[in-house]
Amino acid sequence: MTANVLTEARRIAEQVLFPAAMATDRADAVPALHFDALAAAGLYGIFGPAEAGGLGLDRPAGCAVVEELASGCLATTFILIQHFGLLRALSADDAPARLRDAWLGPACRGELRAGIALAGLLPGPPRLRARPVSGGWILGGTCPWVTGWGRVHVLLVAARGPGDTIVTLVLDAADQAGLTVTRQHLTAVNASATVQLDFADVLVPADRLVSRVPADPAMNLTAAALRVNGSLALGLAGRCCRLLGASPLDDELDTCRQRLDAAGDETIQAARAAASELAVRAAAALAVHEGSRSITAAAHAQRLTREATFLLVFGSRPGIRAELLHRLGASAG
Ligand SMILES: Cc1cc2nc3c(=O)[nH]c(=O)nc-3n(C[C@H](O)[C@H](O)[C@H](O)COP(=O)(O)OP(=O)(O)OC[C@H]3O[C@@H](n4cnc5c(N)ncnc54)[C@H](O)[C@@H]3O)c2cc1C
Repeated sequence: MTANVLTEARRIAEQVLFPAAMATDRADAVPALHFDALAAAGLYGIFGPAEAGGLGLDRPAGCAVVEELASGCLATTFILIQHFGLLRALSADDAPARLRDAWLGPACRGELRAGIALAGLLPGPPRLRARPVSGGWILGGTCPWVTGWGRVHVLLVAARGPGDTIVTLVLDAADQAGLTVTRQHLTAVNASATVQLDFADVLVPADRLVSRVPADPAMNLTAAALRVNGSLALGLAGRCCRLLGASPLDDELDTCRQRLDAAGDETIQAARAAASELAVRAAAALAVHEGSRSITAAAHAQRLTREATFLLVFGSRPGIRAELLHRLGASAG
């Protein structure tokens, strides 16, 4: 099963995503047919339980699929992996049965597609708040980065609730009263249709509550939370390696993957930084290898160098940032 899934992911990456990567880079939004191809292959459900129609892959196997897809098109894969937030929330043992029964199957099949808006998890003063009212929850504040607008149906929203809690809700990803949507204009993966969402008393019905738990900053620093994003960097580095031909970077890629797969909560941030740094170096090496034509508009090398820069800052955490600054020679530590 796992080998077949990987083969199918590779086929989609090579035959659907990579041939369109330069056009997608210039587009306002990733073509919808990319997501239909992923859904048809069951790839929305790679981490979903088999009994709900998911593929039930373990983390290394699922991450290998993500890496393949990212080697084909980073923007497409970037949107896809946001979906795994809802999948994970609905698959949890304590997920509300009502939501799980209604949505886990469609989410595994890619009929229901999700993004995430996790501003409530950011440390410091709350940027996104949820307060209970009769019939539901009221959201107020800002979520500066929400990827996939127009390509997802719902958002998994994490907001700060009363009493230092994290309230997780499912919101329709659509224009609605109190919600202001502002497009972020990006120099890489712009087709990810990333937006800022401003919430002015947006009502979410009570039956959309997924969980309410005490805020715990450590929850977002685990290997379980941080591993998948590392496969975006591996995929990008892998594409550079393929375009370069055999080089010592191939062994470095294998080492980075092994390190990410073996990482626990204490070591995942350093492993993520190593993968991001490799992506930057591999993209730079590709540009040098290809010479002047690498900075022409049609060249993969210039796209990949911009995308590698994006991967230095997306999904970051304090430990990833510190390790990257150290690796890049910008800190004494
Ligand atoms: C193009 C793009 C698209 C993005 N799409 C989304 C999206 O769809 N949904 C979404 O929720 N976020 C999204 N993000 C935000 C992203 O996940 C991180 O929050 C962000 O990359 C960290 O940025 P920062 O280093 O500027 O720190 P800030 O966002 O300013 O955060 C402040 C500090 O909090 C840390 N931090 C960030 N996130 C967490 C967390 N979850 N738990 C604990 N600490 C944290 C950071 O490392 C930093 O030290 C996106 C970011 C980018 C650049």
